[in-house]
This record gives sequence, structure tokens and C-alpha cells, in this order.
Amino acid sequence: MNKKDIVSLSFDELKIEMESIGEKAFRAKQIYEWLHVKLADSFEEMTNLSKALREKLDSEYRIPLVKMVDRQISRIDGTNKFLFQMEDGHVVESVLMRYKHGNSVCISSQVGCRMGCKFCASTIGGLERNLLPSEMVREIYQIQKISGERVANVVVMGSGEPLDNYDNFVRFVQLLSDEHGLHISQRNITVSTCGIVPNMKRLADEQLQITLALSLHGSTQEKRKMLMPIANKYELPEVLEACDYYFEKTGRRITFEYSLVHGVNDTDEDAKELIELLKVRNCHLNLIPVNPIKERNFEKPSRKSAENFKNKLEKNGINVTIRREMGSDIDGACGQLRRRFVEK
Ligand code: SF4
Repeated sequence: MNKKDIVSLSFDELKIEMESIGEKAFRAKQIYEWLHVKLADSFEEMTNLSKALREKLDSEYRIPLVKMVDRQISRIDGTNKFLFQMEDGHVVESVLMRYKHGNSVCISSQVGCRMGCKFCASTIGGLERNLLPSEMVREIYQIQKISGERVANVVVMGSGEPLDNYDNFVRFVQLLSDEHGLHISQRNITVSTCGIVPNMKRLADEQLQITLALSLHGSTQEKRKMLMPIANKYELPEVLEACDYYFEKTGRRITFEYSLVHGVNDTDEDAKELIELLKVRNCHLNLIPVNPIKERNFEKPSRKSAENFKNKLEKNGINVTIRREMGSDIDGACGQLRRRFVEK
């Protein structure tokens, strides 16, 4: 029998589920707490439930496995990179970054990715499968358990395109921010998309309070197309219009992510075009000096040239930061830890 994934159920669904197996609805509160607050890995641990109920739960439901198989800790800044294995053997990366304002976790939303962005290691083997809502929350739960530290912020920017796994992603946000669970504020959750226009609009209509980050990476349609195949499907003006729609609906300022690739998108002309695009928008621009990947031959700009690029934008009133590089001594680019594991 295919056991049901109990962790992906909302609080209300769990109540209905308990009633359907002849249990009192209040059991749902206890079980939800075990799953989403005490972060239990098995029904065995749920010691305030009778042994008979634990056995019944175990025969009908499953807590999807998310098991740490590798962990690297940066000596420079304490960043932790985790490799988690799922029930079917697939592995994904998650990262814990320590900032003054609290711990931030970056999680994966798919095993691999089919979007094909040229600067990204996660897409090299294509998409294997979508992650379940339960697997996404459990990446965070495992990190909180292993590190013994509270997670304050979550970014969905690891492997995968979250809006290509739309329903599971939205459910993940609801589980994570549910008052009966870890109750992480939606304002502390950021989702990064390469620009799937219909789903950006759908997400705006959900009226969640999460931050939308658009992977822009090119200041014109042509440049974007060179780096991101998705730009062949959705042209830059419609992607920007979807960003504006998101801002209108939610009041949340958009973050634009821009990977700086030396000689490709970091010229004076790029800066000028970027200023034209962004000066009319209430937004934040995050510059990311690209990490070299052994399978691609992109070069990282020097610190000085990245600073120059930033200054040009700042002088024109754009709110801009260069993303601080975290954990540079541990398998730099995102997706590389997984690729090494898979290759082995
Ligand atoms: S950058 Fe994101 S959307 Fe693009 S290929 Fe990599 S994981 Fe997929």
C-alpha cells in the first residue's frame, strides 16, 4: 500500500484525516506539533500518543525521509552546506548562512532543474523530479535540528525553479508559516524565479507576503536570451510587467538578482541599460559575482570591477548591494556538492 505523506498535510487536512481514521480531532494538534515543531523523524518518537495509535499511523502514513549524507562547514564564516538524501536516493543541497540578523537557510525545490541557465551547475543533468512540500520543509527542519539553532529566514534559491513546482511550493510556504508549526513569517521567506510569467502572476494573486526575487542576469532581451533559455519563452518586458503586478498586488518590493559574468554582462553599456530598467521601479538589485563552474568557462569579475558596476547604479539612485560571498572555501557554486556526490 502507498502510504500517505503526512507532513505535506495542512493542519485542517490533518484534522479531517484523523477523524477519517476514527481518532479525535485534537490528536491532529499533537501530531502536527510533533511533525512541525518538535521536528520528529518517526512516529516512534511521539511519546504522548498510545503505542496502538503510533502503530496505526505508521501503517497508513509516512514521514518522507530527508537524511543528511554530507556536511561541509566553512572555516571563514561558519556557513554550512548540507547534502540531503531522499527516500528514492536522490540528493539535494541546502545551505545555512549565519548573519548578524539571524540564520538564513537556502533550500532546493527540485532535484536538478530543467531551466538550463548557462551559469548554473544545478541544471547540467536536467530535472530529475519535483520535491514534495514535506521534503522542502524537512530540509529546514533537519538543519534546525542538526545545528541546534533557530532558522529566521528562508530563501528558495537552491537547485530547481520553485515556480516550475508551483503547487508544492505554495503549500510549502503555507506549512512553514502556519501558526501551529515553525511559524516563520512570510516576510522572511524569499522565492527566486527565472521568470515563469504566468506563475509569477498566479503567485501575486495568492497574496502571500513573501519576497519575489527575479533572476534578471541580463539588461536586454538579447543578453538575457544568451544566459537563460527561459527568455525565449517570456520576453523581458512581460517578465518586468509580471514583477510590477506582484508589487501592485502584495506591496512587496521586488529583488532583482544579477549574476555578474566578466565580459558578458558587466560592461558600461550593461550598467546603463540596467539603470533604465530599474530606476522606474521600487526594487532592490543584488549583484552576484558569478562562481566559476568547471563545466562552463565563465569568468568572475574582479572585486574592483564589481564595485565599479555597483557605483554606477548607485549614483543613479538604484538600491544595490553586492552579495557577500558565503562559504567560499567549501564547494563554491550552488549545485557543485551534489554534482560531486552524483559523479562519485
Ligand atoms: S539558476 Fe535556478 S532556474 Fe536557472 S538552471 Fe539554475 S536552478 Fe534552474
